[in-house]
Amino acid sequence: MAGAEVRVPDIGDFKEVEVIEVLVKPGDAVTKEQSLITLESDKATMEIPSPQAGVVKALRVKVGDKVSKGSTILELEAQEESAAAAAPSKEKPKATPPASPSPLDRGAESAADVECDVVVLGAGPGGYSAAFRAADLGLRTVIVERYPVLGGVCLNVGCIPSKALLHTAAVIDAARGLAEHGVSFGEPKVDLAKLRAFKDKVVGKLTGGLATMAKLRKVTVLTGKGTFVDPHHIAVETKEGRKTVRFANAIIAAGSQAAKLPLLPEDPRIVDSTGALELKSIPKKMLVVGGGIIGLEMGTVYSTLGTRLDVVEMMDGLMLGADRDLVAAWQKANARRFDNVMLKTRTTKVEPSPQGLKVHFDGEHKEARTYDLVLVSVGRAPNGKAIGAEKAGVAVTERGFIETDSQMRTNVPHIFAIGDITRNPMLAHKAVHEGHVAAEAAAGQKSHFDARVIPSVAYTDPEIAWVGLTEDEAKKAGTKVEVAKFPWSASGRAIANARDEGFTKLVFDAETHRVVGGGIVGAGADDLIAEVALAIEMGADAVDIGKTIHPHPTLSESVGFAAEVHEGACTEVLPRRKR
Ligand SMILES: Cc1cc2nc3c(=O)[nH]c(=O)nc-3n(C[C@H](O)[C@H](O)[C@H](O)COP(=O)(O)OP(=O)(O)OC[C@H]3O[C@@H](n4cnc5c(N)ncnc54)[C@H](O)[C@@H]3O)c2cc1C
Repeated sequence: MAGAEVRVPDIGDFKEVEVIEVLVKPGDAVTKEQSLITLESDKATMEIPSPQAGVVKALRVKVGDKVSKGSTILELEAQEESAAAAAPSKEKPKATPPASPSPLDRGAESAADVECDVVVLGAGPGGYSAAFRAADLGLRTVIVERYPVLGGVCLNVGCIPSKALLHTAAVIDAARGLAEHGVSFGEPKVDLAKLRAFKDKVVGKLTGGLATMAKLRKVTVLTGKGTFVDPHHIAVETKEGRKTVRFANAIIAAGSQAAKLPLLPEDPRIVDSTGALELKSIPKKMLVVGGGIIGLEMGTVYSTLGTRLDVVEMMDGLMLGADRDLVAAWQKANARRFDNVMLKTRTTKVEPSPQGLKVHFDGEHKEARTYDLVLVSVGRAPNGKAIGAEKAGVAVTERGFIETDSQMRTNVPHIFAIGDITRNPMLAHKAVHEGHVAAEAAAGQKSHFDARVIPSVAYTDPEIAWVGLTEDEAKKAGTKVEVAKFPWSASGRAIANARDEGFTKLVFDAETHRVVGGGIVGAGADDLIAEVALAIEMGADAVDIGKTIHPHPTLSESVGFAAEVHEGACTEVLPRRKR
């Protein structure tokens, strides 16, 4: 019998991670894969399994120690698996899997390559969050993802790469703005290859982290397109051939894809958001088709890098959904980026030529114009019709959405759906919350999606963020609300930042004075809106918010000041005139 040192395996980017539990002691017999210690980083808790069966001879770590890859955990006297298994195990008990319907109980007969308690179809923010939660609750979990990297749209071609580029753009704009403070850097030289590499590195760091987390949680990842075969089987077309997964519960997290405009020809100069994120070149003139958040975020990046922008929108405003006064403040600050903002106008035809893309319009604007790049960002379409849902008996709407109850169960109770595929708004943080609810419900918990509000953010410059009931919605619905605004021109921090063009507003229920909504436009609005969301969830009223001491000088004060404005108690602005 050989003695061997058991060391911390590759735990990804984690270093100097604290040992929070030692699960074995000298003399214990352990089986292969039995958890030995638990580590906790700021991001995750992970158990380190034994690489082989044996008897613990000596411990080399204790609770509170910091360990990294290669640190010795203990000395193990190797044993045959059967001998060790016979010895009493000290493995930490896992949460008992729910009394979920077993596929075998239901008479499902086809053979399976993989069996699990939960299969998650799609590894976007909804899917991986659901899978990790399910695994943490002790369920045998499988992720099926058609791409070789986890993270879905958000991490690979959505939230994260766009924010990496927007960050670069914001720094360039801030540096340019410093000229007014007497500090000049000159015009930036942009190395597009390096900028793309930075964006790719950001994405790689996050998606690599997910792969590690999946491994450490023992979530099986099958790479390949998955399609339901029946209510308890998914077939996956992997590189190694077709594999069948038999599941007790399924969570559909197959997301959405960019909506297409059928009238447009195939041309490499006509791109969707994924194409725009590739940043192949910096066009001189670009048309953004669709005045929503995604198009305007990408427009901001290109414009800062030197592109002149036009935007065309069928409706009568940009970024519909946000209050018009918020959008007006953004539009004023961004007028310099646009040559033409064409509202109530449709794109009717695009004629490609070596000189450019001649785009024809109809509506309030009719003059055809020529562009070097056309970004089509006219919304996203759910993927509900492309996963064989009908084979499992799951109902899909005409548009491709899969409807659920508040536990995220579809019409087939052991099959859940989450994220973009379920309903609007198509946002990553909604997908994550729904994923947790679905996993907990699959594990037999009484979880429900009962969030009162879901915040929205346009990460433009300045950002626009809103949550809950908007002032415009309240007006349309005839809901009695009171609105209080705090202008950033009265905020010491905003003035010191030379970014005082924004404002913070809160919407209160006229009777209870509870906050029911809020909107912020200004640099940093994305983070600030979280306080308003929390206030709404907690049922806070204007006094609660105003009497909460916000640190000075910060932009967060603007939330407290807006509440004080509502109460007529704000000394940063003049009192409201008595009527
Ligand atoms: C440019 C852009 C910027 C965005 N910015 C933000 C932002 O800042 N904040 C925000 O909250 N949201 C943002 N979004 C939206 C956000 O990306 C989505 O709401 C989010 O990704 C939805 O998550 P999901 O898990 O529902 O699905 P997705 O992220 O779409 O993931 C679905 C996954 O399922 C896989 N899949 C689909 N069908 C199959 C199949 N048959 N077999 C196997 N795998 C399959 C796909 O490959 C994909 O990986 C942005 C989107 C875009 C396009």
